[in-house]
Amino acid sequence: MEATLYRGRFAPSPTGSLHFGSLVTALASYLDARACNGEWYVRIEDVDPPRERRGASRAILKVLETYGLTWDGEIIWQHDRYDAYREALERLRGQGIAYPCTCSRKELAKHGHVYPGTCRYRTKDPDSLFAIRLNCDTEVIEFNDRIQGRQRFDMAELGDFIIARKDKLFAYQLAVTVDDAWQGITHIVRGSDLLDSTPRQICLQRHLNSPTPSYAHVPVITNLDGSKLSKQTMAPALQMNNPAPILIKALQVLKIPVDDTVEITNVNAILAFAIHYWSSNGLM
Ligand SMILES: [Zn+2]
Repeated sequence: MEATLYRGRFAPSPTGSLHFGSLVTALASYLDARACNGEWYVRIEDVDPPRERRGASRAILKVLETYGLTWDGEIIWQHDRYDAYREALERLRGQGIAYPCTCSRKELAKHGHVYPGTCRYRTKDPDSLFAIRLNCDTEVIEFNDRIQGRQRFDMAELGDFIIARKDKLFAYQLAVTVDDAWQGITHIVRGSDLLDSTPRQICLQRHLNSPTPSYAHVPVITNLDGSKLSKQTMAPALQMNNPAPILIKALQVLKIPVDDTVEITNVNAILAFAIHYWSSNGLM
């Protein structure tokens, strides 16, 4: 098989249907892949069944289809990948860099956001329920973000993070890292709300001997009232019978001006214009 230079992905959690902000990040990831003649995959991150909303996966896929964001290959479902996560977890424990943590929510709250490593030096597995954390506080992670620029994170400031939960579910950070490596993802374009997840994932990549993809974190729309976009377009569920105007608004957020040379009622024509614009103007 011919080697691909670019393999991207959109990886939503089925905790609800896509809103305007997530459409913008899906679009950025899609356009970047297509502008580079790359592949673009969809991965449903359903590792957290308690937070999952019934029918959300199907609704997300329907939005992508309606907005013309067609993906390559088969959809990956994280619920099919538990064996791989378990294997990665065992490797990390085997290396002695992952340890059980029995701290209660209450104990953790005392320390604010940074876990102080309380359980780090336990010599054997506890009898009570435990989460598993990665011991990473001596590491410094640096990477170049294509939008946000040079990033440097001192892991001591983030604290040892959870890779397997007390309720026996795998944590987001572990599942994402294992799957990006397994799928051979080369470029990740996602919302800037995940910027501080990236050093954690790079940390895991180092310990699992996985390559580090290129990262680009798109600014997310956090303040509905503060944004220039009308409240209508920010409605929780995206319009399904007339996607073109919303698609154009999403492109405006990405600083892609759709002019009147484009057939503005045709989603595919709009996307073709946007891909062309992106490939000649670069990212944002
Ligand atoms: Zn602990």
